[in-house]
Parts: sequence; structure tokens; C-alpha cells
Amino acid sequence: MRNLITGGAGFIGSHLAERLLSRGDEVYVIDNLSTGKLENIAHLRRNPNFHFTLGSISEEHLLHPLVEKCDIVYHLAAAVGVRLIIEKPVETIETNILGTEMVLKVSNQYKKKVIIASTSEVYGKTSKVPFREDDDSVYGPTTKSRWSYACSKAIDEFLALAYFHEKKLPIVILRLFNTIGPRQTGKYGMVVPTFVQQALLNHPITVFGDGSQKRSFTYVDDVVTLTILLAEDSKAEGEVFNIGNGSEITIKELAHQVKKMTNSQSDVVLVPYDQAYERGFEDMQRRVPDISKVDKYTGFHPRTTLPESLQKIIEYHRQ
Ligand code: UDP
Repeated sequence: MRNLITGGAGFIGSHLAERLLSRGDEVYVIDNLSTGKLENIAHLRRNPNFHFTLGSISEEHLLHPLVEKCDIVYHLAAAVGVRLIIEKPVETIETNILGTEMVLKVSNQYKKKVIIASTSEVYGKTSKVPFREDDDSVYGPTTKSRWSYACSKAIDEFLALAYFHEKKLPIVILRLFNTIGPRQTGKYGMVVPTFVQQALLNHPITVFGDGSQKRSFTYVDDVVTLTILLAEDSKAEGEVFNIGNGSEITIKELAHQVKKMTNSQSDVVLVPYDQAYERGFEDMQRRVPDISKVDKYTGFHPRTTLPESLQKIIEYHRQ
């Protein structure tokens, strides 16, 4: 198989590339290195089946030859991370909407299947848990910039589904819940790499709000397995899937667990949301996926436990 991964120098993209190469596939990556890094793919560049294009998915002339020669497109390029969204809202909206529009338009010309990485953010601040794929989304006002991310990804989903129904383009939408693993950066606000780096440096571990908010984390290898299983299942075309797992932990407990596992001297400190993000920032108290649909289609359950995931992430950051 020849695979195109947009955003393949990013955290999840680089793990997907690695997995596809390890089974002998050919992998083409396009990445503008806005949040991705060359060091994420440095170990892959020696493989003759790996090809890298530096550029943006909004550059149509770059996409055409890549899509034409590949059998499938994994569209992972996106502006992600709550901090990036708040600091660079224009870039977030444009990258997510215009970029996806271009990927779908070009893929449709060659009728190549597109796997779209979406996000649990599209559920917004609904308090009904667990989240099911056909649940309503609940968003805050447009004056709160964090909702632009959810809306931009929801538009991506609408557009992908529109291509599926109207143009018969095969697509699959994956709503990724909090995914963790080596190579994820804390630079854009992600909690696990942030806590691990703070703990290893003996800096204060910054828990936002009162730390009672909960998240469920899934290890990147399990996410990659599910992504490939769904990409290769023709019955999954035109469908939306939650990708995650149901076991939750509070952010405060997570901070203490990271501190313990790193033998850190750090203090765990509480930082008000207004200070951490922007005035009036709204956080989700819980974010739990209903994974019965993905389970029914793939039969695969995420296997890596949170302590195992944290151990691998700590080792990565120690190096
Ligand atoms: N968080 C935190 N300290 C940090 C970064 C994040 O307490 O330094 C919290 C954040 O407010 C949220 C949770 O950790 O409640 C998960 O944040 P992340 O940005 O990783 O993911 P998301 O909010 O998209 O679930």
C-alpha cells in the first residue's frame, strides 16, 4: 500500500508512519512543520519507503502528485492544542477548514479514500457522558475563542460527510480523545507531556482549575491500531468513530501520579483558568467516549494502561 499522511511529522502522524513502514508499506508525508518536527521522523528518513515533502496542505500543486500516487490519505494535519487555539485563532480556523477542504477536493479528483482525524472537542461542553457519535454538540459563544477549534473540526466532519454522500468519496471520521505518547509536545498545552517535563525538572506541576476535571487517556500505539483497522474496513466508510477508552482520572490525581513515578521534588500547584488560558475560559469537566461502535467494528480494545503509558513517556522525556 502507498499511504499519504498529512501532518506526518507530528506526534500521531509519525507513529502511524512508523507502523505502516514496519509492515512494508510505502509512506509519503506532507508537513509544514508548524507543530510537527523533523526529529519526529529522523529515524524514518533512512527507510527507502519513506518520502517527505515539506509544505502545506493548502498548496494544491504539492498535494496533486502525492494523492495521485497513493492508495489512501490519512489526513492528520491540523492546528491542535488549546494554547495554540487561543494564541493563534486565525491560523487554527484557516488550517483546519481550508486545509481539509483542499485535501478532500484533491482526493475526490482521484477518488482516494480519506481518513479524517477529528477530535472529541466537537462534542463541546455537553455534560452528558459518555459521548456517543450521534449525540448533540453544545458550544459556547463565538466570543470565546476556544470554541472556534470545535466548530472548525465540526465543519471538517460536515464537509467529509458531504463528499461521501454527494460525491461518493470514501471517507472515515475518527474523533480522537486525549491521546498520549512519546513525541507529544507540551508546548501547545497538552497536559501529560507538560506534567512530565515539569516533574523531571522539579518545577511546579501546574494543575488548572481545582483539578477535579477528568480525562481518559489512550496510548498512541492503540490509536494507530484502531486507525488502520478502520481505514481498511469498507463498512466503516461514511461513519464517525470515537477513538479512546473509558477509564477516567482527575487531573489532580494525574499530577500526583506523574510526580510519584518520576520521584520528583515538584509541588503540585493550582492555577486558575483565567490565568492559565484566557478570561472566562470554559473547561470540560468530563470527556468520556462511548466506544461501543468502534468495538463493534474492530473488536480491538486499547491495551496500554495509563501507568504503562506514563512510564514510556517519562523514559522518552528522560532521554
Ligand atoms: N491542564 C492542566 N495543566 C496543564 C495543562 C492542562 O491542568 O499544564 C488541564 C486542562 O485544563 C484540561 C486537562 O488538563 O482540564 C487536559 O488538557 P489538554 O489540553 O491536554 O486536553 P483537553 O483539554 O483538550 O482535554
